[in-house]
Parts: sequence; C-alpha cells; structure tokens
Amino acid sequence: MLKPNLNYGNLKDSYLFYNISGKIAAYLTEHPSQKLLRLGIGDVSLPLCETVINSLHEGVDHQAVKETFHGYMPETGAPFLREAIRAQYCSRGVDVQYDEVFVSSGASDELGDILDLFDRENSALVMEPAYPAYVDANVMAGRKIIHLPSGKENGFVPLPPDDIAADIIYICSPANPTGAVFDKATLKKWVSYANANGSVILFDAAYEAFIEDPEIPHSIFEIEGAKTCAIEICSLSKTAGFTGTRLGYTVIPKDLVRSSMSLNSMWVRNRTTKTNGVSYIIQKGGSAVFTERGREEIMENIKKYKANAKVLMDALDSLGIWYCGGKNAPYIWMECPESMDSWSFFDFLLNKIQVVGTPGSGFGECGEGYFRLSTFGSFEDTKEAAERIVRLLKK
Ligand code: PLP
Repeated sequence: MLKPNLNYGNLKDSYLFYNISGKIAAYLTEHPSQKLLRLGIGDVSLPLCETVINSLHEGVDHQAVKETFHGYMPETGAPFLREAIRAQYCSRGVDVQYDEVFVSSGASDELGDILDLFDRENSALVMEPAYPAYVDANVMAGRKIIHLPSGKENGFVPLPPDDIAADIIYICSPANPTGAVFDKATLKKWVSYANANGSVILFDAAYEAFIEDPEIPHSIFEIEGAKTCAIEICSLSKTAGFTGTRLGYTVIPKDLVRSSMSLNSMWVRNRTTKTNGVSYIIQKGGSAVFTERGREEIMENIKKYKANAKVLMDALDSLGIWYCGGKNAPYIWMECPESMDSWSFFDFLLNKIQVVGTPGSGFGECGEGYFRLSTFGSFEDTKEAAERIVRLLKK
C-alpha cells in the first residue's frame, strides 16, 4: 500500500492569512459600508512597465511567425536572458558567468525545488521572523529545523551562532517581514561560518531592488568567499511587478562543491529532468527589465512604493514608535504600542480605524509584539492610513 509523505503531518497549520481574511470578512459583515485601508498585502499593485509590455507583445508576435517561433526553451533559461542577467551582475562589479545563471519561474518555486540538491539528513537554519516557506519546505522534506530568533536588540539581523553547526542556511536581505538588511560585515561573518562548517547559504534577494543605502550589498557574491558557500535566489516579482507574470533567476557558482559534487552541475541535471523551461514570451518580456530603459521604468515604480514607505515612517517617527525596514525594503516592521500583542494590535487597528496590517507573531514566535506594514498599496490609502494611525496613537 502506498505510504504518503508523512512529514506533511508535521506542518503547522498556517493561520496567519486565513485568520486575517476571517477577521476582515466578519468586520465587513457587521460594517458593510466601511472601506478598509489594506497595509497587509505582500503583492504589488502597479502594472508592468511600458518597456516590459512592449517586449511581451513582441514575444507574442514572434510566436505567430514560423521564422521567429520558439518551441521548448532551454531548461536552464533563454541564452539572451541568462546573458542579460550576467551582464547586470558584472555591471555591479560581481563576476558571474553565463552558465552560473539559471532562469526560473519565480523565487517561491525555486526555494522549494532547490532543496533537491541536499540530503534529507541536513539541518536547515531559519532566522526568524521569517518568510514561512523556508520552514514549511524543509518540514515537508523531513529536515531538522534550527530556529534562530532575532529581535530589536540586534535590529532583527542575527549573527551566526557559536555553538550550532547548521547545513542549509537561509538569509533574506532585505528581509520579509522585517525589512531589515544585512550589511557587509555581518554577511562576511555568515560566509566565514558557512565555509568553516561546509554549509550552504540560500540567499533570498527577492527585494534587492529596494536597497538604497550604497553600503548594503545587493548580492551575497559581493562578499569574498561566497562563491564556495552560497546560492542566490532572485525574483522579478517585487523588482518589476512580475508576481502574476512569473519570472526569477538563481545563481549557483561553479566553485560551489560538496563531497566532490558540483552543485551547479547537479542543478543543470535537475532542471533538464524536472522542467521544460520558462515560457519564451515571459522571458522575452523579462529581458526588458535588464535594459537601461527597463531599469529606469521599474525604478520609477519602486520610487512610488518608497513614497508610501516615507509617509508611514514619518508617521511612526512622529509617534516615537520603534521600527525597522522601510528605507531599503517595502516592509516596515513596527513595535506594537502599549506592549500590545500582535493580534490585539491587529484588532485595535481594524476596529478603531479600519486599517489592516499583518501580525508579526505569524512569522515566528519572536515576531510577537510586532506588526508588519506593507508599502505596496496606493499612495492615497497609505497616506490616509498613516494619518489615522497618528490620530489614534497620539498621546
Ligand atoms: N522570497 C521572499 C522573501 C518573498 O517575500 C517572496 C514573496 O513574497 C518570495 C520569495 C516569492 O517570490 P516569487 O513571487 O518570485 O515566487
């Protein structure tokens, strides 16, 4: 008789977004005329930029003509897109080779699939509060999870532990949900730790385009020694509004070798077995992001989200509330006032001023007492929400 993967029984039910929608539905049933200001969303709200749309149209037109039609794409990515991604790394002073770049259909898919490269006996270290998929993907595989809590005392940027040797290490910078970023010195410590222990860092750079501080690395490969211990997973979702279009990329250096096996070669084998590549049209559209005009246009959109962040940060500053994020990330992670727990603050904002955010306790135990505000909504709603928060919390 077939035995299912019993590890699924070890997954904790994720009540976070389920509970949020339940509470919103109950509130709207009682107050049907109220308009909610939603600062909980992790999805983008601005459309794809013009250059990307034009390139997508061009891709569609190519598929209509025999001479330009594309069938199956190479499993590791279209050569023109891999080259454009390599060139972007090089323009930032990071030496990445063409065949170290793999095109993916998004970071989520890749964060799950990449675990195929590792033995199930390996442990996975997750710095919390964390993007929930890190823990769940490893629980499904039956791996031991090492939860590394962080807090206000280290700005939600933890250092490597002295007494634990972890195998797979997740680093998300800029981080979801805290918006915190890892500076060069801290990343150096993690790279040294990983090289010393033979671990592999999975560096989630989904929000790198939001970094504005010139001292903060956009890529783990800006750190010396990272090529022998890290894989970088990137996405165009938040960078360029591809959440519904789906495109990302992963960099696996050829120097990354464990037990005499090249993880880059293993991933080529994995992709050629398990995918038939990303759609030509989407890759054609995505390639526009790496042109000068495309880069300018996506940065215009990011500027709009950053205007939302500024309004919210000004509001919290005026109230003297501690927070991190916002400057280099689309999320603001605030301390709940009056020592409220995360869900009490959620209810308080919903009932008093019809503002919806995300309770920090949903991202790990050490998120209790914190609250995530997203800057992906409209400017008008964000401004209105910030004004209401100030009126409500002003002493
Ligand atoms: N990594 C982090 C930290 C995220 O917050 C998200 C999405 O919210 C993803 C990865 C997934 O991105 P994608 O849309 O490329 O699957």
